[in-house]
Amino acid sequence: MKKIPLAGPSITQKEIDYVHDAVVNGWYETYDMHIKKLEKAFAEYVGSKYAIATYCGTHALHLAALALGLGPGDEVIVADQSYIATAHALSYVGAKCVFADVVPDTLCIDSRQIEVLITPRTKAVMVVHFGGFACDMDAVMDIARRHRLAVIEDACQSVGTFYHGIHTGAIGDIGTFSFQGSKIAVGGEGGMLVTNDEALYQRAKHYGTFCRNDGIQYLWSDDVGYNYRISNVTAALILAQIERIDQLVANKKRIFESYWEKLRDNPYFEMLLPPAGCEPNYGYVLGCLRDGVNANRDELVRRMLDMNVHFRPGYPSMHRMPPYEQTHAVPNSDRYDRRGLVLPTAHSLEEEDIARVCGEMNRVIEEMLKGKR
Ligand SMILES: *Cc1c(COP(=O)(O)O)cnc(C)c1O
Repeated sequence: MKKIPLAGPSITQKEIDYVHDAVVNGWYETYDMHIKKLEKAFAEYVGSKYAIATYCGTHALHLAALALGLGPGDEVIVADQSYIATAHALSYVGAKCVFADVVPDTLCIDSRQIEVLITPRTKAVMVVHFGGFACDMDAVMDIARRHRLAVIEDACQSVGTFYHGIHTGAIGDIGTFSFQGSKIAVGGEGGMLVTNDEALYQRAKHYGTFCRNDGIQYLWSDDVGYNYRISNVTAALILAQIERIDQLVANKKRIFESYWEKLRDNPYFEMLLPPAGCEPNYGYVLGCLRDGVNANRDELVRRMLDMNVHFRPGYPSMHRMPPYEQTHAVPNSDRYDRRGLVLPTAHSLEEEDIARVCGEMNRVIEEMLKGKR
């Protein structure tokens, strides 16, 4: 049976031409030509003053924590639902993650939880624009200003997502993005940090390039730094994708709307919709088994995989994992952990693939429910 992939890119002649150009011409005086073009194009697209391209999104998150000077003894309030890189990046600098619950409708941070979790040690809030949906940034920024907290936006899944007309990642102090192969725009690996603050930009740039300070002496380093630069060839690929971002969002919207048409009244699966004020990138089709549907989520995922339909379970709640155990309850995050599903939304999906995914999902769930009776 034909594979229905969970994720995968849209590649055209433009990407091939740009990569070819980088391989042939991206050396000597022009060794970083495509990196500079990408950073400029991306900063313009999201409406930020500064952009730094990185090897991956996780590096951008780590640089954000370093630039803000987070370290041991500091607490950062983090949405409990995310890919684990979000929390790990804070651990790299020794900061403590304090996990906040999410809103069940969007899986984005519940802003009311932030205020409950603030202590004298809280230095920052790390929100995640989950599944290409935007967090309630008006509320987050209001709380952050009142308590003098920095705001990092993990926008790794939300290239192409706007909140009240502003691109996600360009609202808080620092935003981070990923171009890993499953994201809406890809470079294989690749990341980006954006900010409007020149000092934060300089610090992030410094840490990401070994803390080199050639002003003191050539090849001098004034602190422990990292080699987090992107390759010029990868930058060329991502540049082509960013120049096509409207097309990429439109294609994801086609897939999302086709799913919505088929699943809106589904008795088993509850598909999530973008919140008010958010113009999403439609990158993901997420949801949960409805309450009362007594089917085993993991078995459903396995049985779909057996038919070469690549489902994924929701992320495990980060607070349950060994480095991060905590005691306060985050029930909405835990529900998604147990009952959450991610449906295939690869750029290559056709109408008949989406119909097959929905048909098979219904059939398998019904079989599982019958087996129980
Ligand atoms: C993909 C992703 C990351 C990590 O990005 P990489 O480029 O894979 O390092 C971080 N946070 C979220 C929410 C992501 O989806």
